[in-house]
Amino acid sequence: EAKEDGKNTWRHFSMDLRNKIEGKVRTEQDLRFAIERNEFRLFYQARCNALTNEIVGAEALIRWQHPTRGLLGPGDFIPVCEETSLIHEVGLWVLEETARMQVELARAGYPITLSLNLSARQFTRSTFLSDILGLPHRIGCDPSKLELEITESLLLRDEVAVLELLTAAKNAGFGIAIDDFGTGYSNLAYIQRYPISSLKIDRSFVQDTENSGAVTRLVIALCKSIGIKSVAEGVETQQQLDWLRAHDCQEYQGFLFSKPVPADEFRQLLAGNKPATARVVRLRNAKP
Ligand code: C2E
Ligand code: MG
Ligand code: MG
Ligand code: MG
Repeated sequence: EAKEDGKNTWRHFSMDLRNKIEGKVRTEQDLRFAIERNEFRLFYQARCNALTNEIVGAEALIRWQHPTRGLLGPGDFIPVCEETSLIHEVGLWVLEETARMQVELARAGYPITLSLNLSARQFTRSTFLSDILGLPHRIGCDPSKLELEITESLLLRDEVAVLELLTAAKNAGFGIAIDDFGTGYSNLAYIQRYPISSLKIDRSFVQDTENSGAVTRLVIALCKSIGIKSVAEGVETQQQLDWLRAHDCQEYQGFLFSKPVPADEFRQLLAGNKPATARVVRLRNAKP
């Protein structure tokens, strides 16, 4: 009996492994067509001023509208993109699509900042810097309303090429945010060496504000002393937001205010949060 069980366990294990590998190969094949078939979407999660709750920006987060598997999150396919060279193409699409959205929102009366996520692998492509620097010319976007999110691990490699690229992007007006701040092996020395505009405090530290909140407190103080923006990630409760306000955190995003939503829904969210210029005029002219 026990022997039979062992066999079954092994069979299940090897089937799981086989399904996993086959699934990955299929994902990779499907990904090759996803761009030309226009299957990627950007969802937007509002970023708010912590004191006023006004939407001051949004983070663009990729989704894949797969023809048979439904809507997939980045965890389902970004790692596969990173293992192959597909991340370069997908990453370029994200850059350009976010830039187009920035232009569109500014024209609609919402000059907010959009941030987007970059993979470390993208920095290895020789055309990456010119892809970024060429955006304003190609798309007509305002670089000061775009922020590039990178992770600590990229900076810890301490490569001259990365520092040069980020410096060039910063000089061209782009913002640079460190994502999931505090989760890497923190070497605070790089914070001053790199041209950073925001620190995004990881959700795990925001959750810990219910206990001591020591790390969040420290990061907010660090941001203040070097003059960059503090942004809390993954804010889920009013209690967390109250704590962040009391401790002078500048901006936040999280399910408490809004989940990441499709572009249309995000435009509606903006319209409800702060009237567009045209609507203000109409309201002012309206008779009581
Ligand atoms: P991230 O950049 O740290 O993005 C925040 C993630 O936390 C998002 O997950 C978001 O939906 C989720 N989140 C936001 N607020 C809350 C909250 O209050 N509670 C909880 N539990 N979660 C919250 P998502 O969209 O699944 O993205 C996961 C990660 O995938 C991102 O983490 C980012 O590292 C990566 N990613 C997303 N889009 C792109 C992209 O276009 N390119 C690359 N290279 N990576 C991307
Ligand atoms: Mg991010
Ligand atoms: Mg993050
Ligand atoms: Mg995070």
